[in-house]
Amino acid sequence: MTTHLMNTYARQPLAFVRGEGAYLWDETGKRYLDAVAGVAVNGLGHAHPGLAKAIADQAATLIHTSNLYRIPRQEELADRLCALSGMDKVFFCNSGCEANEAAIKLARLYGHGKGIELPTIIVMEKAFHGRTMATLTATGSRKIQAGFEPLLTGFARVPYNDIEAVRQVAEHNKNVVAVLVEVVQGEGGINLLAPDYLAGLRQICDAQGWLLMLDEVQTGIGRTGTWFGFQHSGVLPDVMALAKGLGSGMPIGACLARGVAADVFKPGNHGSTFGGNPLACAAALATLDAIESEGLLDNARTQGEAIRQGLREALAGVYGVIDIRGEGMMIGIELDRACGELVGVARDAGVLINVTADRVIRLVPPLVYGAAESSALVAAVAGIVKHYLQQAA
Ligand SMILES: *Cc1c(COP(=O)(O)O)cnc(C)c1O
Repeated sequence: MTTHLMNTYARQPLAFVRGEGAYLWDETGKRYLDAVAGVAVNGLGHAHPGLAKAIADQAATLIHTSNLYRIPRQEELADRLCALSGMDKVFFCNSGCEANEAAIKLARLYGHGKGIELPTIIVMEKAFHGRTMATLTATGSRKIQAGFEPLLTGFARVPYNDIEAVRQVAEHNKNVVAVLVEVVQGEGGINLLAPDYLAGLRQICDAQGWLLMLDEVQTGIGRTGTWFGFQHSGVLPDVMALAKGLGSGMPIGACLARGVAADVFKPGNHGSTFGGNPLACAAALATLDAIESEGLLDNARTQGEAIRQGLREALAGVYGVIDIRGEGMMIGIELDRACGELVGVARDAGVLINVTADRVIRLVPPLVYGAAESSALVAAVAGIVKHYLQQAA
């Protein structure tokens, strides 16, 4: 093992050599059922033939030209994303934090355009928006911020799902220009929005002239069973950040905007060397094609519900299970205690899971799961959870 990698990750002691659909194989030939999907990235599963072909064809034709020139595949992708979401314009970048960074810059520029010199963005407790200086400042976790001070100014934090807290800020802080929120908090522990919370935010944003900005980096592109998480609510945002599932593993992020927000950036305000290059856009277009032609939105809803239902039945009455929740293929099992060690236990049993916020098992499987994978996941995870809670009690 090399000693020449910076020590930024607590990596698990294994490497995968190939994948197919919902499964991965390690160096010893052992097979794993994947319920991590590269952290909610590989929606199409592994080695998807249509995706692989689109990437290979594009690589053999043209990988990169830069945004000094028109990029037809980028224009096509922007059209598709806007048609699917109801947004008007797209800026392409390479990751989730960059998509949020673009949103933050857009909101600040929007504020300055209204004569607000110190524009402020309302952000949420337990939020996760990324690791750049602006996005880690927006993130609601001291662990992620500690040691990187000075943080940025221009953020006001409120509790998630507390509309009254947002109203209070509206009353006292005249510098607010936007609200940034995840429609389901991912890293924060699969925390769902309260019914009507987004509608409440929309109302305040409209009344105050603020931008409603959704971080759909994890929830976007079918993860919750609709193209975008906001589509469960009927509320349209002004700005939306996408990344994880968009390129199925090819790095690509996008910041979408609508209405006044769509025309805030002018030439010179923002940019990216790689952002939206032909190769990344080909992967994203192939991802959208596959989600459509394979009915993966319906499948994510059906299989996600089957997994939650199965877990609820298998774990009914088990002491220590606090909650089983989620939307589509974004599933959380909250326990009453820290459970990070279950990642290793599940791995030994041939199942890849993730634990976030200390005591929430996070399942974000590929959207291509069939009934067999869903029931195998339920059986394995329920067994591991029961054993752990009984043993530790
Ligand atoms: C993963 C994630 C990010 C950061 O994405 P990167 O590609 O790692 O920069 C931002 N917001 C949310 C909601 C995420 O889940």
